[in-house]
Amino acid sequence: MKILVRAASTAVCLLLLAASAALAQAPVEYRLSFPEPEHRWMQVEVTFRDVPQGPLTVRMSRTSPGRYALHEFAKNVFDVRISDGKGSAAPVTRPDLHQWTITSHDGTVAVTYRVFGDRVDGTYLSVDSTHAHMNIPATLMWAKALEDRPVRVRFQQPPGRQWRVATQLFPTDDPLTFTAPNVHYLMDSPTEFSAFTLRTFAVQGPGGSKPTFRIALHHDGTDADADAYARDVERIVRETMAIFGEFPQFENDTYTFIADYLPWASGDGMEHRNSTVLTSSGSLRNPQQRLGLLGTVAHEFVHAWNVERIRPRDLEPFNYEDADVSRDLWFGEGFTSYYDDVILRRSDLAPLEATLASFAATINAVALSPGRRIRSAADMSQLAPFVDAASSIDRTNWDNTFISYYTWGAALGLALDLSVREQSNSQRTLDTFMQAMWTRFGRPGQKAPGIVSTPFTTSDLRAVLAELTTRQFADRFFDNFVLGHDVVDYAPLLARAGFVMRQRNAGRASLLAPGLNFEGGGGGRVAGSVLSGTALYAAGVDRDDLIVSIDGVSVTSQDAYDQVLARHKPGATVALRFVRRGGETVDTKLTLEEDPRIEIVAIESTGTKLTTEQQQFRTRWLGPKAGSPAA
Ligand SMILES: [Zn+2]
Repeated sequence: MKILVRAASTAVCLLLLAASAALAQAPVEYRLSFPEPEHRWMQVEVTFRDVPQGPLTVRMSRTSPGRYALHEFAKNVFDVRISDGKGSAAPVTRPDLHQWTITSHDGTVAVTYRVFGDRVDGTYLSVDSTHAHMNIPATLMWAKALEDRPVRVRFQQPPGRQWRVATQLFPTDDPLTFTAPNVHYLMDSPTEFSAFTLRTFAVQGPGGSKPTFRIALHHDGTDADADAYARDVERIVRETMAIFGEFPQFENDTYTFIADYLPWASGDGMEHRNSTVLTSSGSLRNPQQRLGLLGTVAHEFVHAWNVERIRPRDLEPFNYEDADVSRDLWFGEGFTSYYDDVILRRSDLAPLEATLASFAATINAVALSPGRRIRSAADMSQLAPFVDAASSIDRTNWDNTFISYYTWGAALGLALDLSVREQSNSQRTLDTFMQAMWTRFGRPGQKAPGIVSTPFTTSDLRAVLAELTTRQFADRFFDNFVLGHDVVDYAPLLARAGFVMRQRNAGRASLLAPGLNFEGGGGGRVAGSVLSGTALYAAGVDRDDLIVSIDGVSVTSQDAYDQVLARHKPGATVALRFVRRGGETVDTKLTLEEDPRIEIVAIESTGTKLTTEQQQFRTRWLGPKAGSPAA
């Protein structure tokens, strides 16, 4: 009923628009066909009508929403033909590899091409006999200066198939025809065309909203697997909504999970405005893999608020022609990652031990990575175009100079949540902060689909935190931990919830060595970067060097290496012989360190009683927030 009312008012708006803009707003028409899906390519025909006089620039994107590196999608395009309204070949120049410039035309430009794609993930295109899994920037050309035109997309069935379409594109009466209000929205609308398994459910939000959730599941499991998955996705949806207090206004009142869990898929999750793409070679039948898949569901659904609508100003509008750089990904990705763990725990999908292990891994990564002293969390965010599924063939020094903004941001989210809870007796939380960001920047910015009109800046984040806490607290948090290099003291914060942070291997000697490869014989070959600040680094050892002996004992296997370390206490000085990759043998000494890694355990598992206060703090933090689904 609600959808019908909205459709009617949209029709009125379109009529008004058509009357005022006349033919200048002729939609861009795409026709997508799949003559030989088994050979991993598809055919695209795009027609631009009422093209203003002068050259028309048609492009393939170099980036994709939610991805910050360059992916050069033009490389898979071939057999490009460009004609005018009469079907005659149009004059075309190629100013660069991504661009086709039609220098003259009769007001209509028709482009046809084939595009190859054989990677199932959230960034690229995959066509085969089981599906067409389309990330739009990897698939469709678009015209500069016509980005605000409405778009119409028609899918043609491959020979002998009866596939369906899962997408956030706007539906029409024809199940194979969809529209988008503009190119921004089109680019943000990944589409699965296959014989997927469909599950739907609706969730009542506050204020009368009741969006529909669709799960398009392309996998090799059973209907029962799909049913169980849908139940768990619904729990995640409910717990995530409870964090922000309400659902976003999803266009068409619908949010679509496109999940491709296939042996040949690459692991990925990609957020979009009203949908997400979830891909993995993992299976819903493997409990450990399943938990990981659900963690990605939680992560991407948080993004429906945080990043999609609570949007960093430096990512808006998204640039499809160059790398996109933001200093706020520690918040956009990192806080979102923190919530993966929180949501899985609140919805009782992850055991408490798994949540604590994830927090410990996060804290270890930040506290022990040498990169922390070189760059801040905001600086790390800016490196996304180099590390976010970016590929290069040269070695990098990231182990010594980089910490993922996912990890560092998650550590900051954990610290901020616990600190705010501590100082307000759990009256205010990170959820309160996210709601404040939503109210200020997310909710009001949703005027045109695909465009966020009120993005935020780093100083906005600081100001909202100051309102929630104090100016002094917010300044300290940002100056010391977001823009500075300090590590939060987690132990007293975790203690409030009855969790003990302690040395994982107290009293055990360690070298914090990267992996050693013993296959070549003669010792252990250093298989990764040696971390600066460690004894091994001080001794002059680095990647590709061969560790021959420690304390005079030949290190011929992992066991031999572990045993020689186990025989000594931290602080002991021992002889080290190693051979540099250039052939030079070095005899030196090194001082063994204590394994610095921490673990987090529940206090009751250590024989100490959990107090009522700790119990309450813990429940308010990690206990369920959403009511159970209505029967
Ligand atoms: Zn993310």
